[in-house]
Amino acid sequence: MKNIIVLFFSFSTVLFFSCQNQSTETAAQSQDVAFDQFKNNFIEQLWETYPGWATYEGYYKYADILTIPNQATRDKESSFINAIRDSLEKYPTQNLKPNNQTDFKMIQNFLNSNEWENNTFKSFEWNPSQYNVGGSINRLFISDYKSLDEKLRDISKKMINIPEYYLTAKNNLKNPTQEHTGLGIQQNEGALTVFGDKLLDSLNLSQLSIEEKDNFKKRMDDAKKSINDYISFLKGFQEKNKADKNNWKDFRIGEKLFSEKFDFDIVSGFSAIEMYHKALSHKKELHQEMAKISHQIWEKHMGKKEKPQEELIMIKQLIEKISERHVTRKDFIKSIRTQIPELTAFVKEKDLLYLDPSKPLKVRPTPEYMRGFAGASISSPGPYDKNAPTYYNVTPLDHYDDAGAESYLREYNYYVLQILNIHEAIPGHYAQLVYANKSPSLIKSILGNGAMVEGWAVYTERMMLEEGYGNHEPEMWLMYNKWNLRVTCNTIIDYGIHALGWDKEKVMDILLNEAFQEESEAKGKWKRATVSQVQLCSYFSGFKEIYEFREQLKKEQGEDFKLKDFHEQFLSYGSAPVKYVKELMME
Ligand code: ZN
Ligand code: ZN
Repeated sequence: MKNIIVLFFSFSTVLFFSCQNQSTETAAQSQDVAFDQFKNNFIEQLWETYPGWATYEGYYKYADILTIPNQATRDKESSFINAIRDSLEKYPTQNLKPNNQTDFKMIQNFLNSNEWENNTFKSFEWNPSQYNVGGSINRLFISDYKSLDEKLRDISKKMINIPEYYLTAKNNLKNPTQEHTGLGIQQNEGALTVFGDKLLDSLNLSQLSIEEKDNFKKRMDDAKKSINDYISFLKGFQEKNKADKNNWKDFRIGEKLFSEKFDFDIVSGFSAIEMYHKALSHKKELHQEMAKISHQIWEKHMGKKEKPQEELIMIKQLIEKISERHVTRKDFIKSIRTQIPELTAFVKEKDLLYLDPSKPLKVRPTPEYMRGFAGASISSPGPYDKNAPTYYNVTPLDHYDDAGAESYLREYNYYVLQILNIHEAIPGHYAQLVYANKSPSLIKSILGNGAMVEGWAVYTERMMLEEGYGNHEPEMWLMYNKWNLRVTCNTIIDYGIHALGWDKEKVMDILLNEAFQEESEAKGKWKRATVSQVQLCSYFSGFKEIYEFREQLKKEQGEDFKLKDFHEQFLSYGSAPVKYVKELMME
């Protein structure tokens, strides 16, 4: 283990010097200079404490280290947390500039959150899927951070610890849940494929010595043995608990832990239960709005077909009909590509937000190694690779059969595809990212707030339609409302399942009949909710908080309120929690 004490000592010395150096600068400026220095040291130690995470962020200094997830590691994390917390006390936040104030609070929240994870939440005792070496080895393998030979040496060294890593995992697991055990098996079976022919082929192509190659192969075999052994161990739990399902720990984390995790992860001005109630009433509003639109356009689309008495059924039938308007599978990527300039033109014409023309967005088919998740995503340059281009990844529909492709295209129909582009690209994720990079903060790139980032993208969907994108067509609004119901219900079911103990039947009923989802989508959502907590709340929470804040400012400022100014100021703080941005904008 690295000698962390020495490091702490040396960097507090640096801080001491910076604080003394006040002759040429004002005290406040000097505080910021010192705090910037502190942040650099913090990040350097962060990576030393969490080497695996560092590699994921594109920082490769510790690429050859595999951390053993034992008590000693958690103790090391605790001393790191305590030392940083002590250092933070030296900075009175009110003296710092806004960018540093938000960084300060985000570091503080990170420390509290990790302490809570290690001492209270303790997922290392019940979540077998958090033990997996496949991702980090593959990450090194597919990155171009070094020559092939050097990369293979890093991987070889990293593999030494794999047997001990999995032994420790087995020791840690006291009471796994059935759901995380299933996921752990599935994902570690996936990890086995990383140690396959591709890796061996590269080894053969390399200039490594015979001895190095033999070592590599031996470590690779040991790695595979350890993973297989771990999978058998997990299957042993399944066997043992077959007779009595009550032996498993419930995957539901309960009201108390859920609320605490919500506070750490979302960092909202509202509590989990308050947000749950906001989502419930928002769902009601959406249903009323959808019913109103449906009555209005029923005949136009359904002709003489009798209108169902039950409004939710009427809405569902109309949505099915309108979904028939969609692009062909071969035009899918092309149509996304042509929409981007249209969105840009609209944002300009309505003066909603300045868009930097020197930072174009490239639409591309999703690279093979990234496929299997969302159909569309944004790849942003990592914090250590700022000049790399930003890509809008769109997965082509090649792997679908005809029926599958048709179902997918109906889901991402003419209307929804436009909303998706607003969300992912302009003025959603992509635009937010360009602004975030203008106030560069490594802290915000690394500890960025998911609810703010997702909330902004969801907010822009509604904002664009309100400003007249889609010409206020009722069909566009109906489809938007359906799309928005998805994030609203994500929050409802996440809280419902974990805090209120809802079962699958109740959740499926909401998703199918109140959120108008397809069976396959609803099942996937249930599965996701059983292995994650709070993450599903981030979309709606961020959206609701931004939207309510905007409405409040509109009321207060009356005629003086300018949408463009609001957007640009809001984005100028980077990916900080909405709660902090609000505080700064209210000052
Ligand atoms: Zn069709
Ligand atoms: Zn998103």
